[in-house]
Order: sequence, then structure tokens, then C-alpha cells
Amino acid sequence: METRSKNPEGTPYKTEDLRSGAIPYTEDSLEAWYRWSLGKYLGKYLEGLKEGKIYGRKCNNCERIYVPPREVCHHCFRTTDEWVEVGDTGRVNTAVVSYISADRGRVEEPIIIAVIELEGASPGIGILHRLGKVSPEDVKSMKIFGKRVRAVWRPPEERTGSVNDILYFEPIEEV
Ligand SMILES: [Zn+2]
Repeated sequence: METRSKNPEGTPYKTEDLRSGAIPYTEDSLEAWYRWSLGKYLGKYLEGLKEGKIYGRKCNNCERIYVPPREVCHHCFRTTDEWVEVGDTGRVNTAVVSYISADRGRVEEPIIIAVIELEGASPGIGILHRLGKVSPEDVKSMKIFGKRVRAVWRPPEERTGSVNDILYFEPIEEV
């Protein structure tokens, strides 16, 4: 099966599409507003973050706890049963040094992104977040792997119900 795109460069916007309004665009901003329903599970997860709590869903059949919460247990193929609050500390499962920002711009100061297995969630189930107070060398040498970290939260009045309500995770043991 052919999985690679036949046009790896992508399809460029055409000037006439911008001029005709087919692509909503003004001179200084790209106007592309949208609404997206979070649904019951992601919605509760994000509302929890606003309160400084991290919620997962537990499958009572296999005892797995999913964070972020999942409606269906991937192991048992059945609906998960209950909400559980997990800790805001965990261990770094893996990490990468990125020179590309979330909006795909190049950044001078690299961002360190990690998969963090939170205490209370099942092993092998982690959330993706930034690491702070960790150097690129700590990642390249893999010294950060397996280390305990804790969430550094935004002040409550600045939280919006977003994954960014956690600023980053920082080590709580020597790297
Ligand atoms: Zn299960």
C-alpha cells in the first residue's frame, strides 16, 4: 500500500483563492474561527484542570486508569466505569527536544516535550506536556527518563480550562 503522499510539498494556496474569499483572509490575520464540542470526557478533564485537579477514567474490568480520560477501554472494548482523580506528580516516560513551536514556527530556545505517567494512572498511559527546569542535555543523555516530576500550575485566577493550566512539569528528584 502506498502511504507516502505523492506531493510531499503539499498543495499551496492560490492567490485567486485568497482574493475570491474562498480562504477567509484579511491583510494582517487569517480569520478561521471554529467551534468544537469537547464532549463529556475531555470536557470534564479540562474543567478539572481549571480547579487544579487531574481526572481519569477507570475500567472496572481490567482496572486500567486512563488519563486523559477515555470513554472506551482500549483493552476490554467496553465503556469505562468511573471518574478517578490522579496525582499531579509522575514520571517521565520519554522526552524530546523540539525547535518547533506549537504553531510550527522555529524557536531559538528549544521546548522539551515529554510523555508523563501520572501517579494514579496505569503504567504506560501518559499525558504529553512540557518539561521545565530541564536542559536539552538531560534529554539527549536520557538522564531525565524515569525521573519524578510535578506539575507547575498557573495561578487559579489565570486558569481557563486548558492543558496550559499546567505551565510545565519540573523534576522533584535529581536529574
Ligand atoms: Zn478494561
